[in-house]
Amino acid sequence: MSGVPTLEELRHEVALLHRELTRYGLVSWTAGNVSARVPGEDLMVIKPSGVSYDELSAESIVVCDLHGALVEGDLRPSSDTAAHAYVYRHLPEVGGVAHTHSPYATAWAARGEPIPCVLTMIADEFGGDIPVGPFALIGDDSIGQGIVETLRGSRSPAVLMRNHGPFTVGPDARAAVKAAVLLEDVARTVHFAHQLGTPDTIDKQHVDHLYARYQNVYGQ
Ligand SMILES: [Zn+2]
Repeated sequence: MSGVPTLEELRHEVALLHRELTRYGLVSWTAGNVSARVPGEDLMVIKPSGVSYDELSAESIVVCDLHGALVEGDLRPSSDTAAHAYVYRHLPEVGGVAHTHSPYATAWAARGEPIPCVLTMIADEFGGDIPVGPFALIGDDSIGQGIVETLRGSRSPAVLMRNHGPFTVGPDARAAVKAAVLLEDVARTVHFAHQLGTPDTIDKQHVDHLYARYQNVYGQ
């Protein structure tokens, strides 16, 4: 994909990205979803509710406005659509959102404990500790508000919503899914490290250096 993606390209991309959720073991049944902002329009594309990952196609991905109302598609949008829409309304730099209940990250959320920055990969991708967001019930803007307030106070593209699970964001949907995959990886490793003691934290100046290098230099 190059340049500004069309709506059809976005639906195709978002359908394919859901396969990464199952490939990396981040989701059970249908409990996890990915969305993308439609560039230049007050629209988003998102997984339909209750459709299995094997049956997801570009055609089944629904189009909603940024208040979560269905604009195009035959199926009901994901039950998490309001939270995704709230993020797009309030964080203009965000182009993609992913939500899972991946087990290790969600275990930290269940304890309400931020994942400490004890690995260079955490400094690289998350820029510091991975924060915990508030407890919020589904049904209004509470989850979206909790995500936005927590992410505004952090460099992290991931928030662990308390007693619930992670939401991750990025400049596009692929980056949000990448953050969800890396989050689960570091959540597991730091969990293991905690079993035998207290992992060492990385000095703030080193965290800043690693984050700046990875965000600006790393990759192709
Ligand atoms: Zn959830």
